[in-house]
Amino acid sequence: TRTPLVAGNWKMNGSLALVRELAGALRDAKPEGVEVALCPPYPYLPALGEALAGSGLALGAQNLADHADGAFTGEVSAEMLLEFGCRFAIVGHSERRELYGEDDDQVASKFLRAREAGLTPILCVGETLRQREAEETDQVVVRQLMAVVEAAGVEALERAVLAYEPVWAIGTGLTATPEQAQAVHAGLRAAVADRDADIAGRLRILYGGSVKADNAAPLFAQPDIDGGLIGGASLKAEEFIAICRAA
Ligand code: 13P
Repeated sequence: TRTPLVAGNWKMNGSLALVRELAGALRDAKPEGVEVALCPPYPYLPALGEALAGSGLALGAQNLADHADGAFTGEVSAEMLLEFGCRFAIVGHSERRELYGEDDDQVASKFLRAREAGLTPILCVGETLRQREAEETDQVVVRQLMAVVEAAGVEALERAVLAYEPVWAIGTGLTATPEQAQAVHAGLRAAVADRDADIAGRLRILYGGSVKADNAAPLFAQPDIDGGLIGGASLKAEEFIAICRAA
């Protein structure tokens, strides 16, 4: 009963030409039974928003500020994103955590800000290769999730999406096997169920990390995998559409 969601995270890629190409292709293809969101870099939000208007395809941001407004040079607020039609905002992507030093507390404040403003946060969690090899995966991802649950309350997951993205699988061509991913997704859902079983049952948990057209279907077929967060493959219209259709 959970509607699958496939979200494209363009990261720092794309152009106005890609905005037009992808919006056109997705409008023509109209994948059914799946919610689809595109998260381009900030400057492309207005153009992509216009190109997707009335299509049922959603717009999302890759990040947001943890403050509402004020003297924060270079930052973008949740309210600004809403004004440009965003429904989603990715929070705590591993690239933000690793390259920009975002810690669990900051991720929690961004999550809270997004919800408070009316955006649906897509909270990312995931372990590094070293953590997986040390058999710390479940502990790491549950800690990242609980940092947010402690700050926001488990009810905050009612309007939120969780994404499991093993760091070692991002942009590497190494995908978690469907069984590996399912095991982590089930652990995350169980951790939420400890607090509230109904909320856990409704929570969408996406898998991300080298999802391609040719490996998406068996991942999405797992009982606790409710769609995907797609990086590189979301920049290619045909491949992204094939992934949406697999959900
Ligand atoms: P890739 O699909 O390029 O591995 O990226 C995954 C990701 O980080 C999506 O947020």
